[in-house]
Amino acid sequence: MHEYSIAYDLYATARSAAHEHHAIKVKKISVDVGRMAMVNPEQVVFLFDTIKEDDPLFQYAVLECHEISPETRCACGYSGNEIYLCPKCGALPELVKGREIVVTNVEIEVED
Ligand SMILES: [Zn+2]
Repeated sequence: MHEYSIAYDLYATARSAAHEHHAIKVKKISVDVGRMAMVNPEQVVFLFDTIKEDDPLFQYAVLECHEISPETRCACGYSGNEIYLCPKCGALPELVKGREIVVTNVEIEVED
């Protein structure tokens, strides 16, 4: 299950960030999800909620997915959002952005 391993990775990343900063609570995890990553963000959020359930550190944690539009570049100099066909020369453009799943921010609460 593709989405499950992604959700688990996001959880593990957030958890190690939280431990590193001696967090008492994880509040929000922001994630960029490229449209070309072929994942369903809603399903990732759902699975994430299932995984974090037994972790008190994550009791109030919210996973926020931001969808990222694909960006491509072609050898002829074209750059834009066409993913299958370069509008200038007809070649297959190279995907430079839009396949990534990256944690951009982990919001935590620390003890005073
Ligand atoms: Zn081209």
